Amino acid sequence: MNDGARAPLLEVSGLKKHFPVKKGWLSPSAKVYAVDGVSFHINQGETLGLVGESGCGKSTVGRTVLRLLDPTEGNIKLQGRDITHLSKTDMRPVRRDMQIIFQDPYSSLNPRMSAGRIVEEMLRVHDIGTPIERQERVAELFERVGLRKAQMDSFPHEFSGGQRQRIGIARALALNPKVIIGDEPVSALDVSIQAQVINLLMDLQAELNLSYLFIAHDLAVVEHISHRIAVMYLGKIVEYTDKKTLFTNPQHPYTEALLSAVPIPDPTVRRKKTILQGDVPSPINPPPGCHFHTRCPYAEERCRAEEPPLTEFGPDHLVSCHLR
Ligand code: SF4
Repeated sequence: MNDGARAPLLEVSGLKKHFPVKKGWLSPSAKVYAVDGVSFHINQGETLGLVGESGCGKSTVGRTVLRLLDPTEGNIKLQGRDITHLSKTDMRPVRRDMQIIFQDPYSSLNPRMSAGRIVEEMLRVHDIGTPIERQERVAELFERVGLRKAQMDSFPHEFSGGQRQRIGIARALALNPKVIIGDEPVSALDVSIQAQVINLLMDLQAELNLSYLFIAHDLAVVEHISHRIAVMYLGKIVEYTDKKTLFTNPQHPYTEALLSAVPIPDPTVRRKKTILQGDVPSPINPPPGCHFHTRCPYAEERCRAEEPPLTEFGPDHLVSCHLR
């Protein structure tokens, strides 16, 4: 899945993040297998969509890649440099290259700071520029994300949801990052506003050659922005390929189910509807064999006992299913 021409900007291999859970003072502690062996890469100027239902571990992937959480196992490389075990001090300059946009723009913005101050804070913490230079940079960022310079003095509650997400984007751009992790960045917005924010992110990518890891629970949301897509289920990637292949030739039954919920703009074309039964099982005690067998319409005996490896189904197309 790597083009081989040059090292990917971000490379994640065998990433695991397990959280210990105390069950009770007499019982042994259990673990939440939030991320359980995830590998992917993102090239410069590229968007990888990471999709799955809530609780599948996709946000934990984002936070672990950013080293906001320490990985349990695996490797994270940024521009070929292994950052998996860097100390807090050594991570500080690396953080300039990797930023995050959160799902809920309201709770991620300090309500007591003006919008301009929120963005400026990024520059101040990293000791960049004089106060005047920082103000100029913030004004430039506001205009770049479609806000007015005059709005720098307004507070988060004075903005609409879409505008607040634009403040979040300006803040993420402040340090000229190379990679931005969007953790469900448009999920809390109305559909029409979602399109505007996605278009803004795509314009910024074209202009600044940014790379995105775009996390969402809905394939329809990542369709427009992604070059490649990884589908996650219960801590693992179950299908990973380019966008066109995923939408026209999905191979994993879970991808099929997610796709069947995506509306097709042409009323003459119908997609087979797959309604998933039940919820995602608990990551504390994932089902044996294929984690998806409890909800898979095609599950057979082998699926309950043997875990299917993620294997090459076609060129640059990985699938983990015994039937493929
Ligand atoms: Fe379904 Fe079996 Fe394939 Fe898992 S391995 S997705 S249970 S058919």
